[in-house]
Amino acid sequence: MKIPFISQEELSKIAAEFPTPFHLYDEKGIREKARALNQAFSWNKGFKEYFAVKATPNPTILKILQEENCGVDCATEVELLMSHKLGFTDIMFSSNNTPAEEYRYARQIGAIINLDAYEDIAFLKENAGLPETISLRYNPGGIFALGTDIMDHPEESKFGMTKTQLMQGFKELKAAGVKEFGLHALLASNTVTNDYYPTLAGELFELAVEVKEETGIELSFINLSGGIGVNYLPDQEANDIALIGQKVHQVFDAVLQPAGLGQIKIFTELGRFMLAPHGLLVTRVHHRKKTYRDYVGVDASAVNLLRPAMYGSYHHITNMTNPQGEPEIVDVVGSLCENNDKFAAGRELPHVRVGDLLVIHDTGAHGFSMGYQYNGRLRSAEILYQTNGQAKMIRRAEKPEDYFATLYGFNFEK
Ligand SMILES: *Cc1c(COP(=O)(O)O)cnc(C)c1O
Repeated sequence: MKIPFISQEELSKIAAEFPTPFHLYDEKGIREKARALNQAFSWNKGFKEYFAVKATPNPTILKILQEENCGVDCATEVELLMSHKLGFTDIMFSSNNTPAEEYRYARQIGAIINLDAYEDIAFLKENAGLPETISLRYNPGGIFALGTDIMDHPEESKFGMTKTQLMQGFKELKAAGVKEFGLHALLASNTVTNDYYPTLAGELFELAVEVKEETGIELSFINLSGGIGVNYLPDQEANDIALIGQKVHQVFDAVLQPAGLGQIKIFTELGRFMLAPHGLLVTRVHHRKKTYRDYVGVDASAVNLLRPAMYGSYHHITNMTNPQGEPEIVDVVGSLCENNDKFAAGRELPHVRVGDLLVIHDTGAHGFSMGYQYNGRLRSAEILYQTNGQAKMIRRAEKPEDYFATLYGFNFEK
């Protein structure tokens, strides 16, 4: 069972004030999640979550996370700009294939640069100069598995550098006068297990010991990055962050402490885990259609939530207006002229009527942010359900003039 963070009554009030579709975020849930994460790693002095901005790039959301002692992880100049203007001082720049001017900007605002490639060392030196602190991104190659479960194939991933390159890179950077060093890896995405971080931490901690032996460098921080997932499926169990923190602590004590590396700070760059469950895509049913299948046509479409169309991802749906309806099997579809514009296919829902409000779950991360404007369908509003129970619009819906704003040779007001 998946229970929405908002009651039917509260939601219908909000939907009466703001036209659907919109993304709705739960401030209370976001704050509680940040606190639970910080608590889980409170054993580590200097622990910091750098929220992955790309997951939910809304200033109000970022501000909430800032108040909860989080920093930000950026991959582009626009993300850096937004974070800087919001007053963030803890900024990680985990980019790849990075333009020179973005490195310069990252240096200017004091972001920690996390280099994706060995080749980036010379590029950074030549184009922006080397900062005092640098992190390197590791890719071990091969297969990343937890026991017999294959999680991902780092060998096929464009990110990070080999171990040989990493060692060589640390040596060169040290010789060039860099003072503080970090190590980063992201080896699997959306892991729904409490073993991903501990296993990754084990690999990185052992590597940190090797780095010390081979280069004399004692790392300042190890960045476990993102990758902790959420239980999109109703029968999946959510990750237990307290347990994850405890397990990483055990590995820390077993590997780093005996090597005299107990000062190493742990960083994370979680996006999905922090925000996904605290967002709902709220949409209204506009049509029913019956051919070879039963269709429910809603006013949201893949432009508001791309994951089902792009990855075939499951997102749970709740019929808020008619929760006790007779179950039926339907396809829930948007209005794009593309057949993959389906939020669900062959899904059992309580009888859905035109006018019903549906919520699509777990859309708080990689939801709005992956949006686009195909078919001239515009991006929706974002609404914050505040701790005080009031709803506040934190981004308005796009209007036709936004869609036309970048065009030359066309004046839609004529
Ligand atoms: C996407 C990304 C993240 C966040 O990943 P989640 O799966 O949302 O936790 C963190 N770090 C980097 C470098 C990323 O590219």
